[in-house]
Amino acid sequence: MNLTMTRKTPIKLLDSNDMMHRHNHDDCMEHALQAAESICAGQNIRLTPIRKRILELICASHQAIGAYQLLDQLKLEDSKAKPATVYRALDFLMDAGLVHKVESLNAYIGCLTADKDHHSAILICKSCNNAFEIDAEVCYSDLFEKSRSFGFTPHELTLELRGVCVDCQAKA
Ligand SMILES: [Zn+2]
Ligand SMILES: [Zn+2]
Ligand SMILES: [Zn+2]
Repeated sequence: MNLTMTRKTPIKLLDSNDMMHRHNHDDCMEHALQAAESICAGQNIRLTPIRKRILELICASHQAIGAYQLLDQLKLEDSKAKPATVYRALDFLMDAGLVHKVESLNAYIGCLTADKDHHSAILICKSCNNAFEIDAEVCYSDLFEKSRSFGFTPHELTLELRGVCVDCQAKA
């Protein structure tokens, strides 16, 4: 994959329906990295080489990846890499909205729509462990509103759905 070749093209919009089927994953990766660069430039924050590398490792597939798996991969390139290096980069990437934590797996996925404000649910395949985001704005507004009707002040909602993805169903 040659990133410099595509740097000037506008960020392609990705559809989560496409991502759940066999696809050219280079497009996802390219999209995530382009979005990351434009978001960081827009917010005047730095995508340092280590932050970028962690993002690349997370976006290498649609499988959620844990902090220690990331550390293991990083250690292949830099034997001095420490857990704190990974956690600091993850905090940065989450704050910038570039990655999401999959709470039930204690692992991370790259956000493919980081350039848009969104509330999503994460679909987790029990068979291949791939995790995909789908828009869940309606669920968020419903539940937030309902909780307010009980005098509760909602802050955040985690929606994770377990099941079997379309590719694994085809293989079964
Ligand atoms: Zn992909
Ligand atoms: Zn997202
Ligand atoms: Zn699957």
